[in-house]
Amino acid sequence: MHEGAIAESIVDILKQVKERNGLKRIVKVRLKIGKMSGIMIDALMFALEALRTEEDVIFGTSFEVIETNIRAKCNLCDRIYEYKDVSEVVMICDQCGMPLDIIEGKEMEIIDVEGEL
Ligand SMILES: [Zn+2]
Repeated sequence: MHEGAIAESIVDILKQVKERNGLKRIVKVRLKIGKMSGIMIDALMFALEALRTEEDVIFGTSFEVIETNIRAKCNLCDRIYEYKDVSEVVMICDQCGMPLDIIEGKEMEIIDVEGEL
């Protein structure tokens, strides 16, 4: 993944949030990143850190990352599988041998933004 581009899009979203809500500054941002999103959290944090010097909007902003496990569901029996790591993912249901659908773990979302008025 291109963490630099993701960091830039986060900054763009934060600019909109800041403007729309008339915030003086953004104090804290919580991000939800799925373990199957392909995003390397360290690289993303590094990219955000690098943007800090040129983007006022994230000056002094702290970022908290919540990593979500991978969840998959069987289409036939609705059994839910949960994996803590990509390497554990088995795409076939134990019970019926059907392929599983990934229902969680691929996402990257901004959960909430804490600002100062
Ligand atoms: Zn099944």
